[in-house]
Amino acid sequence: CGVFGIKPHPEAANMTYLGLYALQHRGQEAAGIVSSKENKLACVKARGLVSDVFTREQLDRMVGDAAIGHVRYSTAGSNSVENAQPILINCQHGQIAVAHNGNLVNAMQKRRELEKIGSIFNTDSDSEVILHLIAKSRKSNLEEAIVEALSQVEGAFSCVFQTADKLIAVRDPHGFRPLMMGTLDEATVFASETCAFDLLDATFVRELEPGEMFVVNNLGMRTSSKPFEARPMRQCIFEHIYFARPDGFMFGEYTQQYREDLGVMLARESGVDADFVVPVPDSGVSAAVGYARESEIPFAFGLIRNHYVGRTFIEPKQSIRHFGVKIKLNPVRHLFEGKRVILVDDSLVRGTTSRKIVKMVRHAGAKEVHMRISAPPTTHPCYYGIDTPTRRELIASSHSTDEIRRYIGADTLEYISIDGMLQSLRNSDPEHYCKACFTGDYVIPFPAEGGIEV
Ligand code: SF4
Ligand code: MG
Repeated sequence: CGVFGIKPHPEAANMTYLGLYALQHRGQEAAGIVSSKENKLACVKARGLVSDVFTREQLDRMVGDAAIGHVRYSTAGSNSVENAQPILINCQHGQIAVAHNGNLVNAMQKRRELEKIGSIFNTDSDSEVILHLIAKSRKSNLEEAIVEALSQVEGAFSCVFQTADKLIAVRDPHGFRPLMMGTLDEATVFASETCAFDLLDATFVRELEPGEMFVVNNLGMRTSSKPFEARPMRQCIFEHIYFARPDGFMFGEYTQQYREDLGVMLARESGVDADFVVPVPDSGVSAAVGYARESEIPFAFGLIRNHYVGRTFIEPKQSIRHFGVKIKLNPVRHLFEGKRVILVDDSLVRGTTSRKIVKMVRHAGAKEVHMRISAPPTTHPCYYGIDTPTRRELIASSHSTDEIRRYIGADTLEYISIDGMLQSLRNSDPEHYCKACFTGDYVIPFPAEGGIEV
């Protein structure tokens, strides 16, 4: 998911709308904005893309000087409008809205406990648990109530909260998901990625630190604190590899530069002679650029993408996905005839897309197809907010690379090594990353009775 928040700004809701536009790649299922009108918070949210959800009239009615927003892609909970965010509630502490990115690992357990003592849930999203815990808190001060609530949940949360008079941003102590801070005139701005600041002409200041809580109050006063017990830093390496937009800065790295470096490393680790390096668009482009540069093999856009089709992986239904590959990609036929091709993609998850692409390229006349993946084999599901499929569907969880090679129909298949992936980081410490989907080394164990089906 993507989150955004701004305060104080005379056009807070409009700015949030723009911010969500820039964060659209982080979730296409639903979008929402909470803003204030006459000191009351109001929410507009619906299923669909940012461009479809909001009307000019709705935005014009959101006149308050603070707003938060969310774009959703479902990892926990179904894709129904109830699960769209921000979630807005009334409780003893007044009105509170939250936009949450990440997955809570103990959400189901907490929810059962709360239901036993009478809580009524409106959604099946894990994020609602946070609001129930805040509403239940005996703390008189809202910030303390938020801290108390968040101290009881385990997992990934990069959140922005809005109340009648405050904007509060919080990042979980492991720092799984990103959360950026910037300024725009008098306003403090929060966003999942820096590309949102670029669009607004806001100035990127820094990332929120893992475990940091940042409060902007009505007087424009800003306070930062570290209210949680310190935990090992576990930023999501897959944000760098696939999820984040390439034109940004995150966890100390320039995303596109890192992806190109992965391609360079991949070429060093598993070079092969061929006529062309062809990226699987769009996610494989940066790595293919690096691979081609390092191997000195010509780069060619051999697969053309129809830009009016959403990211297939995010469509929740298997049937749409199967159909999707051909809808989305088409080979440049004359290029492939009789040629040896290296296909570069960022990750191989189920193998179904790759299989179709290899077939497509062979059908276009390629003589040899060499598949190169700029991530290690995805062997384990993510419990921290990336929608990887269940373990059973992850082809590398139960098949060797050679079996996968045969399944996708490539002449050779190589992944980058885990070491290669980590050595390609230029500025950040490899120890500070979560790599659990490649290693199975989960920093927070997943409770047997969990929030997500695996
Ligand atoms: Fe990211 Fe993988 Fe860790 Fe999930 S398991 S947070 S996708 S690195
Ligand atoms: Mg892709």
